[in-house]
Amino acid sequence: MNEGRVLKTYNSFYYVAAQGTVYTCKVKGRMKQSRFTLCTGDLVAFDVERGQEGMITRVLPRKNLLQRPTIANLDLIVLTMAAGDPDFSPLILDKLLVRAAVAKVPALIVLNKTDLPGAEAVSRQVTEVYRAVGYEVYLVSAATGAGIEALKERLRGRITALGGPSGVGKSSTLNALQPELQRATGQLSAKIGRGRHTTRFAELVPFNEGYLADTPGFGNVNMEDIPPEELAGAFPEFAAYTGTCKYHPCSHLHEPVCGVKQAVAEGRIASSRYASYQQIAKELAGVRKTY
Ligand code: GDP
Ligand code: ZN
Repeated sequence: MNEGRVLKTYNSFYYVAAQGTVYTCKVKGRMKQSRFTLCTGDLVAFDVERGQEGMITRVLPRKNLLQRPTIANLDLIVLTMAAGDPDFSPLILDKLLVRAAVAKVPALIVLNKTDLPGAEAVSRQVTEVYRAVGYEVYLVSAATGAGIEALKERLRGRITALGGPSGVGKSSTLNALQPELQRATGQLSAKIGRGRHTTRFAELVPFNEGYLADTPGFGNVNMEDIPPEELAGAFPEFAAYTGTCKYHPCSHLHEPVCGVKQAVAEGRIASSRYASYQQIAKELAGVRKTY
């Protein structure tokens, strides 16, 4: 019996990496009778049948699960934003951070296009606000290569997915991180008969002793499936102040005595973060009212 990681699923085949070899696996009949889901990133137990073919017998417990694209057991999601063109949007970043937190995937922030005129003020602001919350912020420019080496080092040995809205430079950053990567994955996709651009399922490709998810990128800012009761917990900086909220539970919205609102008023929680919280809470409440 071996343990390995699913790098890719295709039809009913699973490509499982274990000890430097990729096995082409199917799911054992007995397992099919139980309810199971299997996706890219899953850790599985499998028997080698012959050569590099195998039978998956069991899915090991997941530490997390990202949706759209569906990937299990990520170490990290890199959320890329631009310092300009398009303008930096705290609301979009905060929504992506909430989605990552609810999926239990640690997030790291990359601010790209720091070469643009005026980027310095945005860089300073973003760094200050998000480092105070506890997020790592990497300032990079895919165009000049600034900051790219440091980011690459941070990803060494990790299983990472990329996210962020379109136009911020995700593809450019990926190319700067490893110019060979895109070509290599394109060839891999072509080999199994589907083009890179028609890829619907996430695939993990080897990168710097770890893996990168080869997907269009996680950029979903639709908050409909976020459980409202998990929203406040996805703003880690609130926790230090909820002790002085008068009501429990406190929504930190309309309650007259609220530690979070007090901290915002005193400048100890960034007002942009609280504005995002209010906006997302409103969207979630709107969803519920339609029932
Ligand atoms: P994606 O949609 O997030 O994958 O973004 P792309 O990588 O396609 O880049 C969108 C646009 O931004 C392209 O025109 C890139 O040339 C440009 N771009 C990407 N990175 C940088 C950067 O670091 N600096 C500047 N000035 N432009 C960049
Ligand atoms: Zn409160």
